[in-house]
Amino acid sequence: MTGRADMVARLRTRGIADERVLSAMAAVPRERFVRPELAGEAYVDAPLDIGRGQTISAPSIVAFSIAALQQPPTARVLEIGTGSGYAAAVLARCVGEVVSIERDPDLAQRAREVLAELAPNVEVRTGDGVRGAPDRAPFDGIVVTAMAARQIPPALRNQLAPHGTIVCPVGDDRVGSLVRYRDGRSEDLVEVSFVPLVPGSPET
Ligand code: SAH
Repeated sequence: MTGRADMVARLRTRGIADERVLSAMAAVPRERFVRPELAGEAYVDAPLDIGRGQTISAPSIVAFSIAALQQPPTARVLEIGTGSGYAAAVLARCVGEVVSIERDPDLAQRAREVLAELAPNVEVRTGDGVRGAPDRAPFDGIVVTAMAARQIPPALRNQLAPHGTIVCPVGDDRVGSLVRYRDGRSEDLVEVSFVPLVPGSPET
């Protein structure tokens, strides 16, 4: 509990000013999204191993990415890379509806179970997020939580509502820029490190 309040206080000092994002982070139990043996580290500002070679992003990255989307409470948002489901749970408290896609069936299933309890307005899909969710488009916001090589996947740009916003890390080898795309223009927001976005069908 205290850990979570301290985490939110640290986010404020690091410049996160979006009150909806801060109160969502104050409400979501991050310890539920990490492996039980790492629960004691849940409120440290660091990525943590979630198994399957993947990580839950650091709280400051989750807060920054969701704040950068600048969505109203009614927005429909697509997340690529469900991972633990933590960012989806935070997002779900900031917007109206979330569709989240994860390529690893194991991670998708674990996230689905915890989100069913903590964030009922999230739909978790197993599949290739590079293709988006055309049957649910358009989205007001799209947030990618894995590093795209070279560019924002074109299918995602096509699934964006007019004046919608995409936030996506773009780079090589886990290091790059968090890019915000809106109205045909891209801006680099901050240097970031993410696990790679792996195109193609999910492994079974
Ligand atoms: N948002 C997550 C962090 C995700 S780490 C959280 O809060 O925990 C990035 C995730 O993207 C990994 O789980 C990885 O399996 C997934 N991923 C990688 N390539 C993908 C793709 N093409 N489609 C969907 N998910 C993908």
